Amino acid sequence: MDAQSSDLYQKALAVPLQSLQWSVAKRHNIELLVRRDDQIDGLLSGNKYYKLYFNIAAAKAAGFAQVASFGGAYSNHLHALAAAGRKYEIATVGLVRGERPAVLSPTLQDAEAWGMTLYFLPREVYRTAQASLTNDFLNAEFGRTYRIPEGGANEAGCRGAMAIGQAIEEQLEGAYQQVCLPCGTGATLAGVAAGLPCNKIALGFSVLKGVGDLGADIDRAYRRVLAPAGEMKSAANWRLLTGFHGGGYGKKLPPSLCCFWREFELETGLLLDPVYTLKMFWGIACLAEAGYWRKRARLVVVHTGGLQGRRGFQQQIDW
Ligand SMILES: *Cc1c(COP(=O)(O)O)cnc(C)c1O
Repeated sequence: MDAQSSDLYQKALAVPLQSLQWSVAKRHNIELLVRRDDQIDGLLSGNKYYKLYFNIAAAKAAGFAQVASFGGAYSNHLHALAAAGRKYEIATVGLVRGERPAVLSPTLQDAEAWGMTLYFLPREVYRTAQASLTNDFLNAEFGRTYRIPEGGANEAGCRGAMAIGQAIEEQLEGAYQQVCLPCGTGATLAGVAAGLPCNKIALGFSVLKGVGDLGADIDRAYRRVLAPAGEMKSAANWRLLTGFHGGGYGKKLPPSLCCFWREFELETGLLLDPVYTLKMFWGIACLAEAGYWRKRARLVVVHTGGLQGRRGFQQQIDW
């Protein structure tokens, strides 16, 4: 392990695993250990800490003083990137979907307060912007800029997430069966699975309504991140679960899911974000009701953070 990987791995090892006291788990005789990656850093929360780690390092190594990336007005990724800019002392540009609103979302207010330059792209432009906004455009508009894809979903992002899988195995010395995590681009799932031993399965709960090529993307990312380590696994140790999107990415939550959210938080005291971790826990509960989990299964559940996104759901959080 090189020095940077080792630093990230040490950081990942310090993240606590907490046994979740939850009636659903008790009733179905399973044990849930919540990995509190939401607490890894005061500002740069959750899986984005890992996904940005080698991206920022790569930008710096290539001599860039500025990085840019893409996201919506409530994007955890842009929020984390702005925090990373402060932490690692590198300028940041946020390319934001939609017109600039009269009042910025709390997410973008933070990002701007932390020094991120915001640049708004009309939706039609944003749709193809990752491919069509050339480096020449970025450099001309903002000065020499290193580009990170939306969600930090590239090989460097996956490589960072590997540290989560490696740390879990070390912390529990193998005494667990599966690792659950929510999935957007799936880069975190690919990385976590790559970091786990072959006999441990990483289960991703997709928050997207249409899955499209997600499985193929994850497969490609998984192979690519494993290849340099020269340790192709005999069989892929990740699974993608769909059907727990609750209406789709960033959409208004159905009342039943709001109800689940409220009951979960009041009972367990563990706060969830509305876009990702809520849907994962809901999925875990649905699968428990369906008898999916083995008796006495010991599951690690990664709390991937995103709690800043609760601010966009203030009216619905009335407990
Ligand atoms: C971004 C994010 C995810 C999704 O990560 P991917 O690597 O895109 O699958 C999951 N949970 C939270 C809280 C996030 O912010």
